[in-house]
Amino acid sequence: MSDNEHLNYARSKIADVPDFPKPGILFKDITPLLQDKKAFNDAVDDLASHLNGANKVAGIESRGFIFAAAIAAKHNLGLVLLRKPGKLPRKTHVVQYQLEYGFDSLEMHQDSLDKNDRVLLVDDVLATGGTMMAGCELIAKSGAKLTNCAVFIEISALNGRNRLSSIPIHSSIIV
Ligand code: AMP
Repeated sequence: MSDNEHLNYARSKIADVPDFPKPGILFKDITPLLQDKKAFNDAVDDLASHLNGANKVAGIESRGFIFAAAIAAKHNLGLVLLRKPGKLPRKTHVVQYQLEYGFDSLEMHQDSLDKNDRVLLVDDVLATGGTMMAGCELIAKSGAKLTNCAVFIEISALNGRNRLSSIPIHSSIIV
């Protein structure tokens, strides 16, 4: 876990949007950060500091894709997409997970990873941890080794870290 001064500038580019997409949610909008080359670069470098020997970076749809793709390109690594249901055209592994009301699922092509791969799993925000847990389970199904999870923003009040207690997770900024 780190919450370092070198990320103060990037932190200043997160916009808090109350009651989006529904009442009671404080949405962490990263679009101002993405528009700013220093803030975006600082965020990507911090997330990539926990590659721990990964040869692939997996991103969770959709904002996780942005950070994962940037890390993969910058470090010459493969990129794997963990997508919402029905988006991937070939055979997939599927993991269902619980939302506040109902269920959602994540899918990954079966040939995206194998037991020789070492993977950094990336998303923008860790809230309750359900999404990240599903991502970890997808990677486990493939037989690949998870080197670390990395999120740009951790919402500590929602206790996602506790749910992922056995999994190494780095968060750039803790709110
Ligand atoms: P959770 O499964 O509850 O940890 O939710 C994490 C996922 O939902 C991530 O993919 C985020 O993009 C999104 N998310 C959850 N809460 C927020 C929030 N307050 N602001 C922005 N994105 C969020």
